[in-house]
Amino acid sequence: MRELADAGFSTRSLSDFSMEFTSATAPRPRVCVWLTFDDGFQDVFDHALPVLSRHGFRAVLFLVSDLLGKTNEWQQKAGDITEPLMDEAQVCDWLAAGQEIGSHTRTHPHLTQLPLAEARGELTASKKALEDKFGLAIEHFCYPYGDWNAQVRDLVREAGYKTACTTEYGVNSVATPRLELKRITARYPSRNLKAIWKRLVGRG
Ligand SMILES: [Zn+2]
Repeated sequence: MRELADAGFSTRSLSDFSMEFTSATAPRPRVCVWLTFDDGFQDVFDHALPVLSRHGFRAVLFLVSDLLGKTNEWQQKAGDITEPLMDEAQVCDWLAAGQEIGSHTRTHPHLTQLPLAEARGELTASKKALEDKFGLAIEHFCYPYGDWNAQVRDLVREAGYKTACTTEYGVNSVATPRLELKRITARYPSRNLKAIWKRLVGRG
């Protein structure tokens, strides 16, 4: 976060993404970054929120709607340790701090492996549950495991989402389809800005 701030990056709401690039009159920031956190882990609340607030940065948190206040059941099935997820009160505090939320389905399934009706249910029910619970429009989605195909993407559109994040590596431009947004994982220490830039443009 400090690196981004020092380099002059500012953050925007994901809702501004279309606006920023489609309106000829909208002021275009020189460098802009959209920050995302998947799954809604409690450690994001404990450790990331204070840092975001300190830098005046805005991020979107993709929540698994059936698991608020519970644990990472989908990862435990794969043998991972149990980690707590943010509860409703923490999500309210996250929103009150000026941060955003989006949907990451109801149960974190591989969407391309589900029957169509079930996949549709994951998309629509999670949107409605979060909207009812927090009283705001849920317009942003993130594919669990980055698992998507054209059919799933069309269901996401049909459910009323305006953007969707994949796990494909890269930056987004005017031409990037809004339901196929690329991202850069910041999980590893080697992924500092210099390393990312080098990988993107092939020079240091
Ligand atoms: Zn996830």
